[in-house]
Order: sequence, then structure tokens, then C-alpha cells
Amino acid sequence: MQYHESMIDLVGNTPLLKLTGVTEGIEATVLAKVEYFNPGGSVKDRIALRMIEAAEASGELRPGGTIVEPTSGNTGVGLAIVAQRKGYRCVFVCPDKVSTDKINVLRAYGAEVVVCPTAVDPEHPDSYYNVSDRLVREIPDAWKPDQYSNPNNPRSHYETTGPELWDQTEGRITHFVAGIGTGGTISGTGRYLKEVSDGRVRVIGADPEGSVYSGGSGRPYLVEGVGEDFWPDAYDREIADDIVAVSDRDSFRMTRRLAREEGLLVGGSCGMAVAAALEVARPLGPDAVVVVLLPDGGRGYLSKIFNDEWMADYGFLEGGEPETRVGDVL
Ligand code: PMP
Repeated sequence: MQYHESMIDLVGNTPLLKLTGVTEGIEATVLAKVEYFNPGGSVKDRIALRMIEAAEASGELRPGGTIVEPTSGNTGVGLAIVAQRKGYRCVFVCPDKVSTDKINVLRAYGAEVVVCPTAVDPEHPDSYYNVSDRLVREIPDAWKPDQYSNPNNPRSHYETTGPELWDQTEGRITHFVAGIGTGGTISGTGRYLKEVSDGRVRVIGADPEGSVYSGGSGRPYLVEGVGEDFWPDAYDREIADDIVAVSDRDSFRMTRRLAREEGLLVGGSCGMAVAAALEVARPLGPDAVVVVLLPDGGRGYLSKIFNDEWMADYGFLEGGEPETRVGDVL
């Protein structure tokens, strides 16, 4: 019989898919590492598993302990799955701007979710940051992974994502492109690929226009999960050879093209990363192998990126491809 003992065994070893629809006019091979094949639907399952295992080994997380993390998204899902399989309690703290769908996903896995007001200063006792710190102090045997500073975040990519890409491309990868949120993906994967190739592999970060990684001030943008207004410890500032800034408009339009032209229903940070990867690949010859990492799936974005009215409200549809509208004959 062929079966797995636990959902935990299904983390990682995601497939590489050649992009053939959006790559018209490009000679280089462009391959996507499709992370929505992880059991929690995102790349964050990798760091959740590694951070929990390391905390068990160091004694920071004791049997029956509680994991407390300020997260509303993919990291929470990864932590919730691993915690449930290993018998830990999870308490997540998230701001009230987070959609009820995302909160319900976390609760469905058995996690508790504390919702905090967005409209208060970070110093306020009810702020997202202060509530999670208070819960860590007050709950016995509580442990906070803190993905922004935890070295096991980049380490999980150094140990899994990097070697997988080297093996899957038989060492032929020439460029690695990834969005930067905490910086864990690009730092860990990038360092492994540079070491194993004696510095040959080029590492390129993709960043929303406005974020600090591409020289912005931290001004707001709409793409979720990437870009920052501060420099996290998980990000190795030496790792990227280049950073490509991508607009919300280009990110979301590419996200929609990936669904229609590649059969890939993925999130907005995936469209952003592919837009950057195509820019990198365009001048390269046929021997180049550009790998772009796609962090999550698109189901969580149906009411935004895949909703024509939402896109039109921001002016993202203007001058583009014809859209399906209510009333069209389908
Ligand atoms: N895209 C999405 C949707 C994410 O949730 C994240 C993680 N914040 C990233 C990209 C960036 O990954 P990393 O934190 O490893 O830089």
C-alpha cells in the first residue's frame, strides 16, 4: 500500500511547472515552483514545520504547549496543521481588517483567533503587536515562533526549497526569482543555490512598488504577503543580486493571466513574482533556466484580484484584455 502517515509528511517536494502561455517571445526556460501543492496550500508549511521542530528540540515548545503568533494568513494555516498533528494549541492574533474567510480557515483547523482593532496605534494595549506579546506572557507554556526573526524560517528553505530546485533542474538553474515578505524564502533558497553553484546562480527579489526592499518608503500597496516597511532579521540583505519593483496593476494582471493562460489559480504575490521573472528572462538566451517561486493558491483572492468590479475600481482593467462581465453570454 502507498500512503502517508501524516499531513506533515506531505510538506515540501512541490512540482516545477514550465510556463508556456505567458512566456511568448522569451527564449529562456521559465519554470514555476508551485507551492500551493503543500498541504496547507502555501510555501509557509515549510517554515511552520521547521520552526516547530526546532522549538521542540531546544525545549522552547513543551508537550501540550501553546503556539501564539500574530498572523492571519498562510503561516497560521501551516502552524495550525503541524500543531494539530503534534498536539499543540494555537492562538493567532490578527487585525480586524482580515477577511472572515481567512479567520474561519484558521478556526476550521481548531486554532483560536483573537481579533484586534486596526484603528489603534502600535503602542496601544489592544494593538495587534501588544496583544500577542501579552498572550505569550499570560498563557502557560506559550511559545511565539516570530517568523520575522526566527532563523529557522530561512533555514527551512536552505534545507528543503534550495536542494529541491537544484535536484529538479539537475543543476541547470541559472536564475532564482522570489517575492520578499519576511525574506525567508529568498534568503534560505538563495544562499543554498549560490553555495552549491559556486556563486553562478543569480538571485532576484520581486517587490511591490513602495516597499523598502526596492528602495521605497513603505507606502501602501495592495499585493498581500510581500514587501515591508521595515527590515526583518530573516532577510539577508546581501543575498539578492537585483530587486525588481512591480506595480499592483502589473502584479494582478499577471495573476489573472496565469489562471487563463497556464491553468494556475494563484495569489497576487505569484503574479508579481512572475512579472519580475519575465523581465529577468526576456534578454536571456535559450540556455538560461529561470525558476520563479509561487507562494500560494488563488482561492483566497476570488473577491479581489479575480473580481472584475474590484479590479475596475482601482483602474486595473483599463486598456487591457476583454473581461467577462455580468450579463455576458457564457
Ligand atoms: N507571498 C505570500 C502570499 C506570502 O504569504 C509570503 C509570506 N509572507 C510571501 C509571498 C513571501 O515569503 P517570505 O516571507 O519567505 O519572504
